[in-house]
Amino acid sequence: MRLITECTRRRVWLGIRGSYAPGMSIIDSAVIGGPSLAQERRLVTAIPGPRSQELLARKSAAVASGVAHTVPIEAVAAGGGVVVDADGNSLIDLGSGIAVTSVGNAHPGVVAAVQAAVAQMTHTCFMISPYESYVAVAEKLNRLTPGDHAKKSALFNSGAEAVENAIKIARKATGRPAVVAFDHAYHGRTNLTMALTAKSMPYKSGFGPFASEVYRVPASYPFRDGLSGADAAAKAISLIEKQIGADNLAAVIIEPIQGEGGFIVPAEGFLPAVVDWCRANGVVFIADEVQTGFARTGAMFASELFGIVPDLITTAKGIAGGMPLAAVTGRAEIMDATHGGGLGGTYGGNPVACAAAIAAIDAFENDGMLERAREIGGILRARFESLQQSDARIGEVRGAGAMIAVEFVDPETKAPDAALTSAVAKAAIAEGVIVLTCGTYGNVIRFLPPLSISDELLTEGVDVVAAALAAH
Ligand SMILES: *Cc1c(COP(=O)(O)O)cnc(C)c1O
Repeated sequence: MRLITECTRRRVWLGIRGSYAPGMSIIDSAVIGGPSLAQERRLVTAIPGPRSQELLARKSAAVASGVAHTVPIEAVAAGGGVVVDADGNSLIDLGSGIAVTSVGNAHPGVVAAVQAAVAQMTHTCFMISPYESYVAVAEKLNRLTPGDHAKKSALFNSGAEAVENAIKIARKATGRPAVVAFDHAYHGRTNLTMALTAKSMPYKSGFGPFASEVYRVPASYPFRDGLSGADAAAKAISLIEKQIGADNLAAVIIEPIQGEGGFIVPAEGFLPAVVDWCRANGVVFIADEVQTGFARTGAMFASELFGIVPDLITTAKGIAGGMPLAAVTGRAEIMDATHGGGLGGTYGGNPVACAAAIAAIDAFENDGMLERAREIGGILRARFESLQQSDARIGEVRGAGAMIAVEFVDPETKAPDAALTSAVAKAAIAEGVIVLTCGTYGNVIRFLPPLSISDELLTEGVDVVAAALAAH
């Protein structure tokens, strides 16, 4: 694959092909991941194999059961388009650890940057002794995010933390309390972000009371609401005006393409109408691009696909090639409305994570990632649209770039078919293809391959999913 070979340094996979022996730890066996792992689907045991079963038994004894897992393996290395487990199975990765390893797992540039940075210093706390890499990441975000107005950024550790801070910043800048989020929204698992997130199970149930002054309005979900973008926006705006009042509203937050909610692409005109209303009413428009950002949708940010310029934008997941980092970027006057010391956190913008982000952003900008995301999307879309011709259980194929989903329904009633969705996903995983589900109704399989995957592996992965569908 062009992308892989361009940036590949020669690496050795000692773990499975070479010196790996049962009982060795990852460090003992010098397992090295990255793009030069054999790019193949290879099943040498059932999933999970014996070593994976051992780890999963330890997991269930030692790790809180609220922390669930989708793929029953012990992962030991990953790169290109595969995840390798402790039993020597090599699985095709169509999930990127939830849209995180977009540049590829253990991307050589990211690995080298992390190794250099971690040997220099692990932490000073940017609020105590600032360093250059944090500032460089902020400069890049200010340059790359949509809009040519003056921008500033602040860095955090997770998507949820970025969202929380975007709300803090918007409230401080407007002096208003209320926040609007949408049906099907996902914004995280902390208290304020649980309030913003729509779905009760598994994200919210039993974890209340939630933060106040959060209001929910309908989103645009063309497959289910049948509304034009203008009509869906008018409906949402009318509810906001009647039930909250613009004078009380600090911010409207939305994912340009809703992620966990089902990869819902809003009807044309919906987002621009909401942005226009916000601007006319002094309300901060926040695009949560934690999942859609950084080349995932075939644009650097999904906002560009809809021609909108957010006031604030939250990013995380793909930003640093797998290292924990997140950001809020936006209009300088809004970002600067907070008093000194009002924003921050002990680890926010850690120097190792910032070094990783600089390397990852370099790959996004210079290694043809936007084009690759669109190619991947083309392959996924063509295959599932053609399957849809002969299988009416595929209600809709949608998404953008390398963020494509298939919604499964009852062909007669269009009712969500969560049972079929989970059976197909489970069967694909058992055959060595990592796929994730999503959707308010649990009836969507989402494809988020690393952009470093080869056409061959991607096609094989889709073949396996198609065969699983045919068998159910
Ligand atoms: C994953 C996600 C979050 C939360 O990010 P974490 O890093 O898990 O806290 C927030 N918003 C969106 C759109 C996400 O997809």
